[in-house]
Amino acid sequence: MPPDPPTLLCAARDLFLGGSCAACGRRGSVLCPGCRASLVQEAPGAPRPTRPDPCPAGLPPTWACGAYEGALRQLVVAHKEHGQQALAAPLGALLAESVLAALAGGGDHAPPGTPVLLVPAPSRPSAVRARGRDAALVLVRAAARTLRRRGVPVVVAPLLTTRPGLVDQAGLGVQERAANLDGSLRVRPEQLRRLSRRVPEVAAVVLCDDVVTTGATLVEASRALRAVGLPVLGAATLGATGRRRTGPPGGRR
Ligand SMILES: [Zn+2]
Repeated sequence: MPPDPPTLLCAARDLFLGGSCAACGRRGSVLCPGCRASLVQEAPGAPRPTRPDPCPAGLPPTWACGAYEGALRQLVVAHKEHGQQALAAPLGALLAESVLAALAGGGDHAPPGTPVLLVPAPSRPSAVRARGRDAALVLVRAAARTLRRRGVPVVVAPLLTTRPGLVDQAGLGVQERAANLDGSLRVRPEQLRRLSRRVPEVAAVVLCDDVVTTGATLVEASRALRAVGLPVLGAATLGATGRRRTGPPGGRR
């Protein structure tokens, strides 16, 4: 007797994903029940304001679900670098919590029904080519699905693009990151035109990124959006890495 479709699906998934938990390595699904539970327990209701130390001027109020280490880090890396697409939904649900915290923290008083704009931090085109997909955008789209299910109208707007010559931030120090990013992002005019026809009014703009390190990317993204008249209410991230402080969001503006 042939296996029923769900079994086939699981088998195919395990074949593609290696059949082990991306966080703990236990054989089975890509996120084992134990790790899924710990992720869910740690995160919902728990996104906290976070500030890199030193905090760059112009950093929007930034929220993170936790420290970028342990299971969270392994899952983000597995999704981003190893293409484990099954992790998009649980990570997206986490990011959604961070977005909700950013909205609540920023005093979202928009008329009901007015959409919130989620703007992903842009990936370098070379990284998108290498990975075959824009992992950051996939994550934000997954977060948007969670938010819509919870009655929050959101529009995912990949408005930002990077200038040529931008190098990977990983391995750069605080000063180097800031210099690498200064003036490096811009809003794509054609995307903005299309968006404004589709969504004439937005309640708030929330920047989304998987990880906040020095805050340089969020500062630069925020600057580029403000330059076209889109002030950023806050930034939602999954994890915060490096030296940081938790406390009132924003820090030096
Ligand atoms: Zn596990």
